[in-house]
Amino acid sequence: MEFQDTMRLQGLRKRLVECLRIKGIKDDKVLAAIGQVPRHLFMDHSFIQFAYKDQAFPIGSGQTISQPFTVAIQTLLLQVERYDKILEIGTGSGYQAAVLIEMGATVYTIERQRELYLKSQSLLPQIGYNPKFFFGDGYKGLPTYGPFDKIIITAGAPVIPEDLLAQLKVGGRMVIPMGPREKQTMYVLVKTSETEYYKEGHGTFVFVPMLKGTDK
Ligand code: SAH
Repeated sequence: MEFQDTMRLQGLRKRLVECLRIKGIKDDKVLAAIGQVPRHLFMDHSFIQFAYKDQAFPIGSGQTISQPFTVAIQTLLLQVERYDKILEIGTGSGYQAAVLIEMGATVYTIERQRELYLKSQSLLPQIGYNPKFFFGDGYKGLPTYGPFDKIIITAGAPVIPEDLLAQLKVGGRMVIPMGPREKQTMYVLVKTSETEYYKEGHGTFVFVPMLKGTDK
């Protein structure tokens, strides 16, 4: 009852997928994953009528669940493959992690706000998603669990976090919105050797800031 996914909500979700397709998301695997994840369960119940609109929404602690279009772009740029070991910085609601799991990835996710960490850690397993949850500072990554095939940062970073770059496999990709607080460029960074990488920009976005340290 509590985690209901009604026909009506499923219908709205289908329409969201079509809306993303029209906006230029062409990857069928990404669209299928978004079509599977019940986004309404990741938001406060009072926002349920907005769950399948292509908009960001507040999730408490001053944070937001990213706009579906942004989730689609980041997922697309990450080029997720089955069994990829992915590190996510900024668990937030856990929605992006669920989308990555739908695509067959193993997900390690870090959150610096204790309340959000606890909330997602309780919700996701109840609806069938089991990433590995960590409370901590994403700037440091998870040195003992790396290296990772892919790294996705879901907060706006002022610079490329060096520790994260070190935890990326050679040949691996990092998707990182980087720039000043007002707006960031979505970069894909491909690590070509232990000491080298190249990066390409993919448009501007606005994220909540990637902050240092933990909340409590
Ligand atoms: N991926 C999330 C988006 C949440 S918004 C989702 O699908 O809902 C970005 C999140 O990054 C916020 O929850 C914020 O608290 C978190 N964050 C910001 N800086 C961080 C850091 N240094 N380490 C870990 N999480 C961080």
